[in-house]
Amino acid sequence: MRTLMGMAVAVGLVLGAAGPAAAHGRVSADIVTAARGHGNVVSLTFDDGPNPPDTLRLLDVLREHRVKAVFCLWGDHVVEHPEVARAIARAGHTLCNHSMHHDDLSTWTPEQIAADLRETNAAIRRAVPHARIPYFRAPYGAWGASADVSASLGMRPLGWRYDIADWEPPGTDVLVQRLLDRLTPGAVVLAHDGGGDRSQTVEAVDRVIPVLKAQRWRFTLPEGC
Ligand SMILES: [Zn+2]
Repeated sequence: MRTLMGMAVAVGLVLGAAGPAAAHGRVSADIVTAARGHGNVVSLTFDDGPNPPDTLRLLDVLREHRVKAVFCLWGDHVVEHPEVARAIARAGHTLCNHSMHHDDLSTWTPEQIAADLRETNAAIRRAVPHARIPYFRAPYGAWGASADVSASLGMRPLGWRYDIADWEPPGTDVLVQRLLDRLTPGAVVLAHDGGGDRSQTVEAVDRVIPVLKAQRWRFTLPEGC
């Protein structure tokens, strides 16, 4: 614990000025799964990008429908596509650290996790200078010590309440139906813009947002930052 605290202080000195921890004090290590607000609110979160062309198309879709989302960025993919990471930030979406190589961190030591998360933030900030990165999401939801470590680095751990399971693309119609049938008020929804061909996900989001808006759903960011 001493080691972790010492590490957190040392890391805070490096990242503190740019992180939300400096502005708002301690960041909670409780994993966020709820959207902000009351009633029919939902938060869209997209993992594993940047991944052109799907991410770029998704940015168009979200702009057309005036929805802001969270993008959980895979460090290697940021290094590959820095201009897409910049486009995400420029569009006003919220950035989330999703680790450097999408490893299962559940058995890693706090020191190993901190090094990975710092490397990821550095990669994001090389692409997007002074980026605000208020969230961290563990690959596979395999948290281990990473929720505590991310909080010590000023990032709130971001979970989800509903996973649309678009890993094996089941067809756009199926994704649309899942979103319309299974959405619950206040859910943080997990979808993917990266890690494969995500054109079905992008198409489904484009079709679902206007239907949900007509049903008076509102799209908000997750709680906790
Ligand atoms: Zn992922």
